[in-house]
Amino acid sequence: MAINLNLELTDHCNIRCRMCSQSLRDEAHGAPHRFMDWDTWRRCLAGLRGVDDDVHLCPHWLGEPTIHPDFDRFVEYAFAINQGNQLFREFKLHTNAVVFGEERARLLIRLANAPGSAADTFRFVHFSLDAHSQAVYADVKGADRGPQVRRNVERFLRLREELGGRRPHVTLAFVVQPGNAHEARAFRDHWADLLGSLGREVEQSWDWPAREVDTIYFRPLNAHNQAEMDALHAGVCRELGIVPPGKGNRLRADESF
Ligand code: SF4
Repeated sequence: MAINLNLELTDHCNIRCRMCSQSLRDEAHGAPHRFMDWDTWRRCLAGLRGVDDDVHLCPHWLGEPTIHPDFDRFVEYAFAINQGNQLFREFKLHTNAVVFGEERARLLIRLANAPGSAADTFRFVHFSLDAHSQAVYADVKGADRGPQVRRNVERFLRLREELGGRRPHVTLAFVVQPGNAHEARAFRDHWADLLGSLGREVEQSWDWPAREVDTIYFRPLNAHNQAEMDALHAGVCRELGIVPPGKGNRLRADESF
């Protein structure tokens, strides 16, 4: 059996997405926001030695992991001591890509394609994007960072090809909601065109990606009016032509979130 392990590097975030309660409060765990210290990271990783089950490690839970002041050092260290997958079998990163420069992109691509552990150890980078235009990004994400984020993600995708890296695969995620549903098609077309021009196989999905390929993922909003948000999500996915006939308005699997 696999164990999904979230080691939260920080519960701080640098933007304020409308759909995320993290952006609405000053604390997340009954205490002020914090950054994990180096010793805690080292001890957590050391504690994985000898665990029989496969560990799927994610350095994120509620905040934005890449704003940890030592994010690169933490991740590089984790891969350095994971030779032969002795600590974790898989690694996945979720990020809003606001703080995601060239040096960081090069590091992650290098780690994902380095020998020493199984080739598919670094499973994916999930980019939480949620908008196509600058104005909608600013509205939905609560920060005028849309152009910067797009530059960062595009640079990452181009560098991955330039460096000959097959991995990590990416998920380009769009949480469908009233404020952005009208630009789902523009979002899809933009990223599908770019990935296609780079020669990558691209999947389009209404639920968490199941295959190991780059995926444009349209996700339903979790909200108090769930049936309404599920219908909005299903309508968008139908309009994009990515839903097989016969599906109802709740597309995602029961166990999905
Ligand atoms: S980037 Fe992530 S943690 Fe930050 S507000 Fe948005 S959804 Fe929440």
